[in-house]
Amino acid sequence: MSARTLVVSVNLNLCIGNAMCREAARSTFVADESGLSVGVNPPPDTREDVFAAARACPVCAILVRDAESGEEIYE
Ligand code: SF4
Repeated sequence: MSARTLVVSVNLNLCIGNAMCREAARSTFVADESGLSVGVNPPPDTREDVFAAARACPVCAILVRDAESGEEIYE
């Protein structure tokens, strides 16, 4: 288990609002007024659920980074 804190973001230019991320990590990804998803930081869901959400996105709109280094993380 890693102690690293994650930061999630959604590229709203890519997001198509199909809510797959919100199914996988319900507290971390929430709908904005347009029906697109935005990230909550720090992510309230488990690390596993956050990465499951990122993998579920059909348009790769979700970016997960290390909060300290800014490094992109893929799991
Ligand atoms: S899974 Fe991707 S495209 Fe679908 S709502 Fe989430 S960020 Fe947007």
